[in-house]
Amino acid sequence: MDLDINTVRMARTRADCALRPGEAFLGGGTFLYSEPVPAGVTGLVDLTGLGWEPWSVDGSGLRVSGTCTLEELVAGPGALGAASGTSDVGSGPYRALGIVGECVSALSLSPKVARTATVGGNLALGLPAGSMAGLFAALDALAVVWTLDGGCREVPVSSLVTGAGVVDLAPGEVLREIRVPAATLGQRTVFRRASLTPTGRTAAMVTGRALSSSRLDGDVPPRVRLVLTASVPAPIVLELGPGEHGELDRLIDGIDASAWYEDTHGIPAWRAAMTRRLAHEAFEELGGTA
Ligand SMILES: Cc1cc2nc3c(=O)[nH]c(=O)nc-3n(C[C@H](O)[C@H](O)[C@H](O)COP(=O)(O)OP(=O)(O)OC[C@H]3O[C@@H](n4cnc5c(N)ncnc54)[C@H](O)[C@@H]3O)c2cc1C
Repeated sequence: MDLDINTVRMARTRADCALRPGEAFLGGGTFLYSEPVPAGVTGLVDLTGLGWEPWSVDGSGLRVSGTCTLEELVAGPGALGAASGTSDVGSGPYRALGIVGECVSALSLSPKVARTATVGGNLALGLPAGSMAGLFAALDALAVVWTLDGGCREVPVSSLVTGAGVVDLAPGEVLREIRVPAATLGQRTVFRRASLTPTGRTAAMVTGRALSSSRLDGDVPPRVRLVLTASVPAPIVLELGPGEHGELDRLIDGIDASAWYEDTHGIPAWRAAMTRRLAHEAFEELGGTA
């Protein structure tokens, strides 16, 4: 830890979230406390003091607060999803949340880090391997952002991360919560990931959702939404009709070669090939047919 700062303020009200010169927000601190302090940052404003309920679910859908820890996300919404079952004939009301646990496991975090790291911090960082973007984009979620003028704005999670470490958040804006619409909660979802080593950082991740709630014999196969992350700097969303494997190849071929992400966790050509494979698997599993 290299924490050369002067102040830490605990936010208790929205007014406390008005940043003073040199201040930045603190979520769980698992990134901020593991890196040199960002240039110019001399103070932190701890958002966990706001006392937000980590998550809630009602007739309008699921809400996950920015300060919900990854551990709370798995223990709450993740457990609802696991109990609903994800099989084709399952019809649990929270079936879509069956991928929550896998998306959290896709982060290379120890349980100790997951106990503190927050959903808001993961999204606000905007790292390609930040799996909360792939999770919530697949669920068609909206991010609710507290703006500097005291208002709110909503951004689809699929467009919140705009580049590697670049997000659609102005300095001083707070990621208040993520809203998953009720209509998607009962739909089938899928998760695939690849990394160079079994416990290595995620290098390619595909999440997806069938855009209807059942796949019983005789039903029309559903349209499918796939979200590509980790292998690209920002999420790429694809929508496909039944059987459109050729169209899936065409869309992946259309991704500019320079757009595939490169770091020590994988070269672009390998990430592109893995993404194609995982996307076809995910599409097939959701009923896109082989
Ligand atoms: C061992 C280890 C492994 C890791 N592996 C991964 C990984 O595989 N993938 C990955 O993406 N990350 C990884 N991280 C980085 C980090 O732990 C996670 O991204 C975590 O989810 C960040 O959440 P946090 O609450 O701790 O964020 P913080 O460290 O508190 O904050 C991170 C950034 O987000 C801002 N922020 C926090 N909350 C909000 C909010 N509500 N509104 C606006 N801005 C906010 C902060 O100002 C800061 O810029 C890893 C970290 C460690 C230590």
